[in-house]
Amino acid sequence: MSGIPEPDEFRAEARTWLAGAARPRAADGEWGSGSDSVAVFENWTEEQEREHTARVQEWERTRYDQGWSALNWPQEYGGRGLPAYYEQLYRGEEAAFDVPHRPEIFPVTQALVAPAIGLWGTEEQKRRWLVPMLRTDELACQLFSETEAGSDLAAVRTKAVRDGDGWVLTGHKVWTSGARVATWGVAVCRTDPDVRKHAGITVFLVRMDAPGVTVRPIRQMTGGTSFNEVYLDGVRVPDTDRLGPVGEGWRVTLSVLAAERLDSGSLGLDNADRALDLAGNLSRPLTGSERQRAADLHLRTLVQRLMGLRVTAALVAGREPGAEASVGKLYATETMRRTGDLVSELLGPSLVADTEEWGTYAWTEHLLGAPGYSIAGGTDEIQRTILAERVLGLPKEPVR
Ligand SMILES: Cc1cc2nc3c(=O)[nH]c(=O)nc-3n(C[C@H](O)[C@H](O)[C@H](O)COP(=O)(O)OP(=O)(O)OC[C@H]3O[C@@H](n4cnc5c(N)ncnc54)[C@H](O)[C@@H]3O)c2cc1C
Repeated sequence: MSGIPEPDEFRAEARTWLAGAARPRAADGEWGSGSDSVAVFENWTEEQEREHTARVQEWERTRYDQGWSALNWPQEYGGRGLPAYYEQLYRGEEAAFDVPHRPEIFPVTQALVAPAIGLWGTEEQKRRWLVPMLRTDELACQLFSETEAGSDLAAVRTKAVRDGDGWVLTGHKVWTSGARVATWGVAVCRTDPDVRKHAGITVFLVRMDAPGVTVRPIRQMTGGTSFNEVYLDGVRVPDTDRLGPVGEGWRVTLSVLAAERLDSGSLGLDNADRALDLAGNLSRPLTGSERQRAADLHLRTLVQRLMGLRVTAALVAGREPGAEASVGKLYATETMRRTGDLVSELLGPSLVADTEEWGTYAWTEHLLGAPGYSIAGGTDEIQRTILAERVLGLPKEPVR
């Protein structure tokens, strides 16, 4: 274990570095001032999305260049070769500083796509993609879902047909978060329609500016457009951009989805804390029912944080977190729902009419955004199926 700092020593070093690189987060003692945004998905125009993305990229590059990113990656990829949970230790310290909020495209690139390339990529692909993605010079979106292939992702119909030393991709992907700012898309495609559906899939990395790629934003009920439709119309992809063997794309896809579940456990905690602050700062006493809801939510945030620690403990022990990750995602979406329930009861009509009062109407962003996370990254029902089959060992759902 030589060269690995003790966790306390590491945290202290991280704090010192952060103090030089970022401003401390404003003390939140002052209830009723500062931003009251509780947006789950941002309501940005394309220009705002590009501006914010550039700000986050600047911060991510600083982190990477100064050795405070890619912590668990080998040194040849600019990492520090530390155990995986050092990333969580770092995040714990960073939370006290005012750094730009990372929209989905950042964890997708760094925590979902880069590890899949690490696992499945050739040496040449790792050299070409890993550093630019960990440093966020390149951003990658997930071109997975289609209108008829969401929960049943193996039903994808986007075709990839061999053509000389490359492939031609044709199809239509939907709900692609961050497609407007991504430079690469990880596309799950059908390369063999004649075999069992899970066996005929291959994964490709597609340049988002390649001829034939068209991105069309989808308006969400939050008012924003954080996800998009992506049309692939005869897009040429060299064989060197295929990730993993031909016909093994389902296994590549599963490794990305497992990483996505792992990344979801802390969702919703900030807004739950904010809702509890709201309960504590109301200018009237809480009703019995409001007290019950607030106490329940408080307990949930504690349990959710403990589950996060169990994931960390599994990583510390060198185990792949399995059950912890699926339970964590499911638990997080329920926390978001109950946060909405508490806030609705506390605020009543001032939630739905914009009176410009701080911390009231802003909560519509939470209420309209939170249901998205019961769908994104595998719906609640699918997470329950995963738990039933892989954790409880119940009989498998018949494959359609
Ligand atoms: C905010 C957001 C961001 C997203 N970002 C991306 C992205 O970046 N890239 C990408 O590829 N996709 C993305 N998605 C798509 C997401 O992965 C799919 O929406 C999700 O997998 C569900 O698929 P679907 O919408 O087709 O619903 P369906 O699969 O049609 O499901 C409809 C309903 O039926 C239920 N259901 C379906 N099958 C079963 C079953 N076997 N057992 C029990 N219930 C079942 C579901 O739980 C759901 O309630 C995003 C979605 C959202 C909401």
